[in-house]
Amino acid sequence: MREHHHDFLSWTMNPASAATAEWQLPSGVQARWLDYGIVELTPATAAADALLLSCGVHGNETAPVEVLNAILADIAAGKQALRCRLLVVFGNLDAMRLGKRYLDYDMNRLFNGAHARQPEAREAARAARLEQAAADFFAAARGRRWHYDLHTAIRGSVFEKFAIYPYLHERPHSRAQLAWLKSCQVETVLLHSQPANTYSYFSSRHCQADAFTLELGKARPFGQNDLSRFSGIEQALRRLLAEPEQKLPDYRDGDLPLFRAKYDIVKHSEAFRLHLADEVENFTALPDGYLIAEDGDQRYVAAGGEERILFPNPTVKPGLRAGIVVAPAQLPAD
Ligand SMILES: [Zn+2]
Repeated sequence: MREHHHDFLSWTMNPASAATAEWQLPSGVQARWLDYGIVELTPATAAADALLLSCGVHGNETAPVEVLNAILADIAAGKQALRCRLLVVFGNLDAMRLGKRYLDYDMNRLFNGAHARQPEAREAARAARLEQAAADFFAAARGRRWHYDLHTAIRGSVFEKFAIYPYLHERPHSRAQLAWLKSCQVETVLLHSQPANTYSYFSSRHCQADAFTLELGKARPFGQNDLSRFSGIEQALRRLLAEPEQKLPDYRDGDLPLFRAKYDIVKHSEAFRLHLADEVENFTALPDGYLIAEDGDQRYVAAGGEERILFPNPTVKPGLRAGIVVAPAQLPAD
């Protein structure tokens, strides 16, 4: 049992661990093994707030895995205070073992029930399990509910660290959450304008959590991450765990540049051509009139000079999104 205390990830991946499903850490925190890569920690004294931290939903995005494993080790050793309920999810374990983004299907397109349409993909059952873990965890929440799904991007980015705010339907955006993201050194926030099959959309929509996908820099293999680049998010998470009641300065309009997804560039056929360099960074500005892509007769042309490109990927299968055009946005009046 001793080895659990410094490497939760290995422990949660070990089939023998299910046998010791619940135990008390020296710090008094109660730890519960829920499934491979899923562990719940409950403080010794009653806590109302509930925080879900997930990582490795894309298996090659290793830095957040290392950061969360280090935080867990410190909680176990009594070096990190815990005053909220905490669920830690290591997402795509099979892909993580192989250093791949995914094996059969991008897991972060399989939430919100989409797993049922890809039953043959190895990621489908896992996405369903992760939904269930989030639903169970937040169903028992008596206070605030937070979910931060930690990622690193495939490509460089003009804004190295950015957050994606899932579409909220009728709910207002949380200024307190924007203030917290600013304290993480997140540089910009994309406000989504439609539902998505991501883990953060699922917990936002179905668990009423303040949920975000956080893109924290470029993906590198295990052991090759410069973890100092992640210190902003790590310190902010540690403060949140120790002091969920913390008061941050109020968020004021303009504190963070905000963007809204304007439209998707869809690859309809193999004739699709993206007129951007392979290494173009996320949030690269698109000059007014710039021909972004063409697909047979269809042309995607930038307008206004303030649009930017996000997640360009011309290698997707026809019918799928090959990029998002975003534009500056304001918080809607609540
Ligand atoms: Zn990712």
